[in-house]
Amino acid sequence: MSQSLHSIRPWRQIDRRKSRQIMVGNVPVGGDAPITVQTMTNTLTTDVAGTIAQVQAAADAGADIVRISVPDEASSRALREIVAESPVPIVADIHFHYRRGIEAAEAGAACLRINPGNIGSADRVREVIAAARDYGCSIRIGVNAGSLERHLLEKYGEPCPDAMIESGLDHIRILQDNDFHEFKISCKASDVFMAAAAYQGLAEATDAPIHLGITEAGGLVSGTIKSAIGLGNLLWSGIGDTIRVSLSADPVEEVKVGYEILKSLGLRHRGVNIISCPSCARQGFDVIKTVEKLEKRLEHIKTPMSLSIIGCVVNGPGEALMTDVGFTGGGSGSGMVYLAGKQSHKLSNDQMVDHIVEQVEKRAAAIEAETVQAAE
Ligand code: SF4
Repeated sequence: MSQSLHSIRPWRQIDRRKSRQIMVGNVPVGGDAPITVQTMTNTLTTDVAGTIAQVQAAADAGADIVRISVPDEASSRALREIVAESPVPIVADIHFHYRRGIEAAEAGAACLRINPGNIGSADRVREVIAAARDYGCSIRIGVNAGSLERHLLEKYGEPCPDAMIESGLDHIRILQDNDFHEFKISCKASDVFMAAAAYQGLAEATDAPIHLGITEAGGLVSGTIKSAIGLGNLLWSGIGDTIRVSLSADPVEEVKVGYEILKSLGLRHRGVNIISCPSCARQGFDVIKTVEKLEKRLEHIKTPMSLSIIGCVVNGPGEALMTDVGFTGGGSGSGMVYLAGKQSHKLSNDQMVDHIVEQVEKRAAAIEAETVQAAE
């Protein structure tokens, strides 16, 4: 049911790579911290109200950390206001401009996404690192197959995993030479094979926490699939401490997809995991429409729990055994409700959505109460 079955189901066990833990604001990343879900705003950063609204929506959907681009000085000024209002730590996305890095640290960013090898002289690098240290910022090194350093492209001929790993290790060395260790690293590519190979290499070469992402993954459906394959494969093998799903879609969708990937692997749970059948001629009620309604009506539940909505008795009772709340379609416009894996009562289809929402809310409250009790 709601608690993890990993301990008694060894074939579900994922052994996470042992990484150092760093802090992104008040959120731990790496070590034994839960794998965090990130997204990035796509508003103009200078549109303070619009950006804060997007950060809030992402946080409401479960984002632990949100990244914001800081391309110019006006954005650095806006960042200060956004950070003050944000419910989650903000990562400032910086490219090339070392001044933006310093300004973002001063503005209260929790982390700078910056590649120290790309911001100029050793003095400039030292200044940015000093600002990060002074203002308690961590750093994410963000290697990207699409923007590898020229000398690496010349050495390797084209973007490839080895070039990405070398780039990552070069940036790491710069931070370490400056005695700065609060960093994590990503090495993204839009090609899942390249990204996965680069991440595997980096995971062996460093103990820094790893930020996973498949870059420019595409639209909602294609990007979700690509990310699920790329990130899923790495997470399954224990690699990854924080993830961002990149979609040409609303940041809230990125957060939802991120959670679904983690939920599918049992790595993190949030909200109601709905198990539903695809439906067929045997269904006792309209499964697809019902699931659509329930997904909307249950968005507010944050407690990890499971709900099975199954069209008929072929699979319904079996699935209901393993879920917190279940409904299985039957004949004559009614079906069976299951609570905590046990058959409970008959219910007519037209009362079903309201009733299931009520039962899920009740069960969520009970799970919360049990958790508080267990903690005490
Ligand atoms: S559970 Fe029943 S209704 Fe759903 S797909 Fe299977 S046979 Fe069809």
